[in-house]
Amino acid sequence: MSEVSTPFHQANFPSSNATNIDELKRTFATGQTKSYQWRVEQLTALKLLIEENSKAIICALHTDLGKCETESWLAEIGYSVTDIKGNLKRLKTWMKPTKISTPMITQPGKCYTISEPLGVALIIGAWNYPFQLVITPLIAAIAAGNCAVIKPSELSEATSALIAKMVPKYLDTAAFKVVEGGKEETTALLAQPFDKYFYTGGDQVGRIVMAAAAQHLSPVTLELGGKSPCVVDGDTNLDVTVRRIVWGKWMNAGQTCVAPDYILIEEAYLAEFSQRLIAEIKKQYGKDPSQNKDYGRIINQRHCSRLINYLEGENIIYGGKHDLDNKFLEPTVVVQPSANSALMKEEIFGPILPIMTFNNKQQMLHFINTKSKPLAAYVFTSNAQFEAEFIEQVSAGSICINDTNIFLANHDLPFGGVGTSGMGQYHGKSGFDTFSHTKSVMKRSFKFDAAIRYAPFSQFKLMLLKKF
Ligand code: NAD
Repeated sequence: MSEVSTPFHQANFPSSNATNIDELKRTFATGQTKSYQWRVEQLTALKLLIEENSKAIICALHTDLGKCETESWLAEIGYSVTDIKGNLKRLKTWMKPTKISTPMITQPGKCYTISEPLGVALIIGAWNYPFQLVITPLIAAIAAGNCAVIKPSELSEATSALIAKMVPKYLDTAAFKVVEGGKEETTALLAQPFDKYFYTGGDQVGRIVMAAAAQHLSPVTLELGGKSPCVVDGDTNLDVTVRRIVWGKWMNAGQTCVAPDYILIEEAYLAEFSQRLIAEIKKQYGKDPSQNKDYGRIINQRHCSRLINYLEGENIIYGGKHDLDNKFLEPTVVVQPSANSALMKEEIFGPILPIMTFNNKQQMLHFINTKSKPLAAYVFTSNAQFEAEFIEQVSAGSICINDTNIFLANHDLPFGGVGTSGMGQYHGKSGFDTFSHTKSVMKRSFKFDAAIRYAPFSQFKLMLLKKF
């Protein structure tokens, strides 16, 4: 596999050159990005970019995260292409005005809403799905008729360099720019008056982004993370349950924002569940995952050390082997960590799965609800009543019953967090809405103009007004 080795650079937007956003603002002001035709052209060009460069994208993802080809297709390349196809198919409908009913007092007349683009958007991505996390917001921004600056994560260096190289070759360079870099470059970008800030990453930087957006009174979407719980009920199909948990947890070596962060199970089922879980890990990744090309690597040594430190003093029932030089950590299962341990306080974001036990279902729900609201919450159960209780009682960005990350495959399901896991949503129509302003329009007719609302007022007019 040839390596994408473009060095870290500010591709076509030096941070010292603040005028580049002016160029995008000028492009937006021409109105050209509003046309259906332009949006379709840019989306089609983006699709071509992905299709013609899929090998290079797979290669860059492998360099950054040891990501295998299947996972790259599933969660980055194929995922983005499917999203573009869905946008192209529905864009005309989304752009149409939506009729709103007109009350008696404003008749004759008609009311509707129309979606208008916000302007120039800033899209800041994270490193774990480094391609998809900037491309899918970009799809939504284009569909809604915006210009955009894209800032991929500096930690996934090869993918960032590739995006910076490809975007100007395919998209309208007067409307789209890629900026590479880390804190310094992002800080310079945040100081500029974007019309929309769209950020994916951790909550600390999320606060910085929100404060920057506040300076310009611009809308902000924060796609953050957190600890996503996974409850396993005794009444479940255990074979399928463990298969789906292993798939969702150890995909991308656990570095998935919606991966099950920890398992909650009733004490009585712990032994059987753990045994079946371990057997399934071996089945999917073999006895030595370090030799398995389907198993990824941790993004860098700093994150790998962070994860290894979480294991200190924990009861590891499977895995734990690591190789810091090669950024490798085995799929690892820990039982009964203390609720105060780093493992249970921080988002794990790696291949460690703690299992906590409880005496009953209400205790599990209570435990989830005493923590920050998660990005995703999972329950495996065949018990309809418990399923209903879970949906009703657990507040989370998304809930998936009897599966894990797969809910993201439905682009029509709005995706985003709640509370500390984020604000705002995207994917499909919700992405189009996120990058649009819903403009209300009322049109009155000159045909009839009731005197009732005009002075001089009278008791009779007041009585009529109250009636209407
Ligand atoms: P990261 O280190 O890549 O940072 C995210 C972005 O913030 C990068 O582009 C980076 O350059 C920028 N950044 C970093 N420090 C900055 C600063 N001081 N000022 C301005 N910008 C700065 O990613 P991360 O924060 O490690 O991301 C991991 C988190 O993201 C996890 O919590 C994960 O759950 C979450 N995440 C959420 C989603 C989602 O869709 N909700 C997806 C992926 C990851």
